[in-house]
Amino acid sequence: MNHYIYLDNNATSRPSEECIEAVYASMHGGYGNPSSKHLFGDNARQLVNDARKQVAALINATPAEIVFTSGATESNYMAIMAARELNPGRDHVVLSAIEHPSVLALARTLEQQGMRVSLAPVDAHGRVDLTALSALLTEDTALLSLMWANNETGVLQPLEQALGMAHARGILVHSDAVQAVGKVSVDITALPLDLMSFTAHKMHGPMGVGALFVRKGIKLPALFDGHQERRRRGGTENVPGIVGFGVACELAREQLAEEAVTIARLRDRLEQGIVRDVPFASINGAKAPRIPNTTNVAFGTLPAEALLARMEKAGIYASQGAACAAGQVEPSHVLLAMGLSEATALATIRFSLSHETTDEKIDQVLRILPELIGAMAGMAA
Ligand code: PLP
Repeated sequence: MNHYIYLDNNATSRPSEECIEAVYASMHGGYGNPSSKHLFGDNARQLVNDARKQVAALINATPAEIVFTSGATESNYMAIMAARELNPGRDHVVLSAIEHPSVLALARTLEQQGMRVSLAPVDAHGRVDLTALSALLTEDTALLSLMWANNETGVLQPLEQALGMAHARGILVHSDAVQAVGKVSVDITALPLDLMSFTAHKMHGPMGVGALFVRKGIKLPALFDGHQERRRRGGTENVPGIVGFGVACELAREQLAEEAVTIARLRDRLEQGIVRDVPFASINGAKAPRIPNTTNVAFGTLPAEALLARMEKAGIYASQGAACAAGQVEPSHVLLAMGLSEATALATIRFSLSHETTDEKIDQVLRILPELIGAMAGMAA
């Protein structure tokens, strides 16, 4: 499969062969309902229990602290919409301005339920402004939700400091760690978050399955009634998906440290080559600590949509900001929050690598991209 170059791993990543095989085997032989009190049920229950251990191990949690969900959108919903119940007597929620749309969309729903929502601003490097955040966190605040790493820029957020400020005021902290888990070390005992969302398909697992970490002692209200997931999410478990998620976590745990070094080296090569060959290109968020696989490149005022279409014809797949916002050519809320102009935001492309990215593929991109851009002369806004 050398004829295409897939650099959109933050949107979704190719399931590993090990994952696909495990999913296949679970559907073939392990099709029982985990709630059934017979051999088939026992087998399926065992598969779910084993996967729960694998998922918990990756973040250094206990299996009982993992709730399986349909993905991070659902995990985010469960955590954030529970703010009032989890921290009674408080009616305020703080989100950062650069959260994923699945989090930001909840602001309206919370407000419809009588909660107040504040958005914490970020600085020019894409990191939440801690002074501004501190001013927003009050004794009325029930929950702070701050992502671990941004999906568009890859910028890591100052979670440790934010968590310290929040906990000192009795505020619970949730993090959307979708773009961090499997890419950098995430240890829930070193950074004692109360709730954390992550998802399988960003780490070479299947789509439609994710998890919410819920710290022991936190009484999360049920999303759906039912005895499954310790009464926190009723409904028959997605056994094949959960099995695939377990395998993805196991592989990430074994390979993450080594892969991160290689991926960061390739990402840096890509960035340096682009900046060298395209004089008007610049990297958004480059001065902040970032996850190793992501670069967010502004190509002056060249329309990113047109460049992406040409890249696709040449077999290079990347994206403009968040995939979830694809189809609409609105400038990224993340880049606008960082103070970039609409024109720059619309000229920006996200490249996100994986362990499948090679030096040869980066060479190819560095050869093709300047040619495509050269041929677009005169298209800059
Ligand atoms: N949060 C972040 C930061 C993401 O990048 C995504 C996916 O794009 C999500 C949440 C949603 O995850 P899922 O596709 O599992 O619902």
